[in-house]
Amino acid sequence: MHGLLFKDCRFVNFASHYPKIMKYILAVLLLCSQVSVAQKISKSDKKIIKSLQLHINYLSDDKLEGRRTGSAGEKLAYEYISTQFKNAGISAVNNDNSYLQPFEVNDGKQVSTETGFWVNDHALILNKDFFPFAFSANSTVQCEVSQSLKEKGEIWFYDLNDPLTQNANNPHFDLQDAVIKTVADFEKKGATGVVVYNSSSIPDKIKFEEKDKAETTRIPVIYLSAEAKVKYLADEIGTSKLKLKVQVDTKKRTGHNVVGYLNNNAATTVILGAHYDHLGYGEDRNSLYAGTSPMIHNGADDNASGTAALIELSKQLKASGNKNNNYLFIAFSGEELGLFGSKYFTEHPLINLSNANYMINMDMVGRLNDSTRGLTIGGFGTSPVWNQLVDTDHRYFKIKLDSSGTGPSDHTSFYRKDIPVLFFFTGTHSDYHKPSDDADKINYAGQLQLMKYIFNLISKADSREKLAFTKTKEAATTAKNSFKVSLGIMPDYTYSGNGVHVDGVSAGKAAEKAGIKTGDVIVQLGEHKVSDVQAYMSALGKFNKGEATKVKLMRGKEELVLDIVF
Ligand SMILES: [Zn+2]
Repeated sequence: MHGLLFKDCRFVNFASHYPKIMKYILAVLLLCSQVSVAQKISKSDKKIIKSLQLHINYLSDDKLEGRRTGSAGEKLAYEYISTQFKNAGISAVNNDNSYLQPFEVNDGKQVSTETGFWVNDHALILNKDFFPFAFSANSTVQCEVSQSLKEKGEIWFYDLNDPLTQNANNPHFDLQDAVIKTVADFEKKGATGVVVYNSSSIPDKIKFEEKDKAETTRIPVIYLSAEAKVKYLADEIGTSKLKLKVQVDTKKRTGHNVVGYLNNNAATTVILGAHYDHLGYGEDRNSLYAGTSPMIHNGADDNASGTAALIELSKQLKASGNKNNNYLFIAFSGEELGLFGSKYFTEHPLINLSNANYMINMDMVGRLNDSTRGLTIGGFGTSPVWNQLVDTDHRYFKIKLDSSGTGPSDHTSFYRKDIPVLFFFTGTHSDYHKPSDDADKINYAGQLQLMKYIFNLISKADSREKLAFTKTKEAATTAKNSFKVSLGIMPDYTYSGNGVHVDGVSAGKAAEKAGIKTGDVIVQLGEHKVSDVQAYMSALGKFNKGEATKVKLMRGKEELVLDIVF
């Protein structure tokens, strides 16, 4: 509409040279266009759009470097959101008056500087002469190696020459797997530590893998560079006194949920949420950007848009007459890493979750397509009352309903606590998870309509009793559609150990029939090791419907092997 008004103004100026009648006609035209503008976008709507623009422009500015969980950019973002809540008159739910709820995110592994390797009391240089494997046990061992290294003291040596030359033409050969198996074998035969080196001319590409998820070996294991091997342990003959100390630590990052509370002294509380974290420079390997030089992922739609809507809805609900519920506003972090923030919140809720009425999640609500006006609403099946409250035949939006309470965003964590949820999403686009998800592509008019839609729904629900909850089928994710089979489990995306931690089992599906239970950790499917959710997905892809296999899992400390039919 701005473009149209601008054109009219130019006509008016130009028209001052025309006869009076012409001026009059143009003035009427201008008045008409202003009236039609006034009907479509009111003053208060303009104000909301301006606020949305301010929030999204700030949150998706390069200065915030993509709001990666635990980063300096995340801090700028949570400070901004906290200030917005404060200015809106929304209070903190914590006693200390802070809006923040910190939580830890596993950030892989790192080598402690305490790690050392000594040959005849000479200390080798860490990260130059040697480094530990990320899956190495933490401990200190020492021994005297007499005569030949091949006759081994308690610290054994493993030359990669043999496996590398033998498997030079084997594309399926997994060197790490070979090392892990050999270490286990050496340990059984009496080794207390293992030194791996490569005397061949075939490169082995072994490095310290920060994100390694393999199970920890029972004894320490290091990689010794070929140069150091030649320099310090060349002849493999004579007495060598060896000492090996490995210390591999878990690296942690701290993410922060921002939680604001509107207390109406009501018995029930409605929760509104949107994640504000994004991909940073793509360090966590969740970017779809194909380039090689790191770029900032601004995440304007994902999810500065939802965060901005959350802030504006907090203002509107504060000013509204909806007093039959308290309202809790949560800007989540850790979402892009796997719903860490919302999962932490539901495990450590700052309110009594049994009084939670329902939860509304907004994730990617800024890119409404003006020609299709498609709005996806997930969680429709999580309460029998939603069909009375959700306007499915809307004058503006073309509503697409998804009944499932689970999906790729934070409402899933609340659904898992038996809370009715709704998930709002204006659809994906080619800038999704790329550095090009920028603020200039946001459809503010569309987002305004979405906020009105949500506000109306909340107002309608405010006069109702606490909503009943119903369980739904698991989400049909796009990934699942490419598989011929499914197990019928909900993986816990926040689990950082080896394997897939089962967060839920669907009734009547293969997993339940096989006897898999919530809390089990699946470590192997058939012959495929399942170290994490990605490995699990790729293993699933190798089976056909009706096929039978075995699934290996840990139930507490017990290892179980169950028969499963897909
Ligand atoms: Zn995302």
